Amino acid sequence: MEVSGRLVAPAVFKTDEAEALGLAGSIPVHLRVDPRRRVPRTDAVLADARLAALTERLGRAVVKDAVARAQQRVRQGEIGPECVTDAALAVLPPHPTSLRPVINMTGVLLHTNLGRAPLSPAAVEAVTAAAGATDVEFDLTGGARARRGRGALESLARAVPAAEDVHVVNNNAAALVLAATALAAGREIVISRGEMVEIGDGFRIPDLLVSTGARLREVGATNRTTLDDYRAAIGPRTGFVLKVHPSNFQVAGFTGSVEVAELTGLGVPVIADIGSGLLRREPLLPGEPDAASTLAAGADLVTASGDKLLGGPQAGLLLGRRGLVDRLRRHPLARALRVDKLTLAALEATLRGPETPVHRALHAEPAVLARRAAALAEALHRAGIEARAVPAEATVGGGAAPGVRLPSAAVSLPERLAVPLRTGDPPVVGRFEGGRLLLDLRMVAPARDGEVLTAVLAAAGGRGRP
Ligand SMILES: *Cc1c(COP(=O)(O)O)cnc(C)c1O
Repeated sequence: MEVSGRLVAPAVFKTDEAEALGLAGSIPVHLRVDPRRRVPRTDAVLADARLAALTERLGRAVVKDAVARAQQRVRQGEIGPECVTDAALAVLPPHPTSLRPVINMTGVLLHTNLGRAPLSPAAVEAVTAAAGATDVEFDLTGGARARRGRGALESLARAVPAAEDVHVVNNNAAALVLAATALAAGREIVISRGEMVEIGDGFRIPDLLVSTGARLREVGATNRTTLDDYRAAIGPRTGFVLKVHPSNFQVAGFTGSVEVAELTGLGVPVIADIGSGLLRREPLLPGEPDAASTLAAGADLVTASGDKLLGGPQAGLLLGRRGLVDRLRRHPLARALRVDKLTLAALEATLRGPETPVHRALHAEPAVLARRAAALAEALHRAGIEARAVPAEATVGGGAAPGVRLPSAAVSLPERLAVPLRTGDPPVVGRFEGGRLLLDLRMVAPARDGEVLTAVLAAAGGRGRP
């Protein structure tokens, strides 16, 4: 017998040795024969309908690997040969990627860690439709190359008539990098000391700008900058003046800044990074700048994110004067910052389509949220879970509308449910407050309340008595 192969585990020798020594009676029946001979063949296992379906979804390599691991367990005597398929199924991931859809109950509408804006159903449909071969850069009527993503660009231009031209890049940071590179490399960007913003995760707009080879000409003080400060800094080396919306912090007290409208008389381009991507005024967020008003105030170029208050995919929007947008579009760097067809599809559907989840959450009626929280808490309470409906305050988050508190409602639960909820399917992420776990309803579509109920029941241990 060949016993020196690496595939043969020591446990197998022991089985055979035990038989030779007459000790086989103390060994489980399925181990008495050399298990290698009883390991089902890989192609036979892969023919199982469930594994075949998973091969379609996850890829052959992953499924084959799971089968190989299950076969190895048979060789080692851990499981019987009849269990190979189930053992392979048990270790296969249920989803095609490690990214999991999450129910955001943090009360932060645009949670950067949770992917900021969730796409609208229309945008999701558009992404799916564009996933194959698509006419993203092709004119089907004429049969020739066409402007890439023209549908999204036209929709953006139509949404903001004040913009002479528009362009879309990977994100707002990319929009700033492109503007700084094309318009100020080797020159100066004039920026207020009160607008040297850290976006998050250690990334700072001033560092981003300097990385392009532009120099920053800081003006004013942290709390106050005047028009004279800008005026004194402008000279032949100025590339442009940059206004950055302080989108994630507030300064209070003795403060002052200069509006875009006042900066337009300085004789240099004014670029405004408005951050959140509001295209028009949002009455609920009076402090949040929007593209239309900023252009109307005289900004030459506006940059913004696609996945904040616009409620679309990650993207950087550039809107403004034709000559400037054209220079950015033609710069070699533009190719490196170009957006994917999936982004263009989602952006166009967002710009054209029905209400986004972000807009719905922003405009949700507090009384309706309170009724939903009460219904959930009551159902959970009936199941023996210590749940209460409580008033809550949600925030916009994600670098938009700092300081704005949106009245909301939440289900308050014992803190110990946080981990089982986060690791459940689907994961539910709430927030801790006052020794309790709050599940804030503002960002949850009403149609998903049933899923939330099921998730909490499961997290509490099925029977509902934590
Ligand atoms: C969020 C934000 C950015 C960064 O935008 P991304 O799309 O995440 O790159 C830049 N500037 C401001 C003012 C922001 O609020």
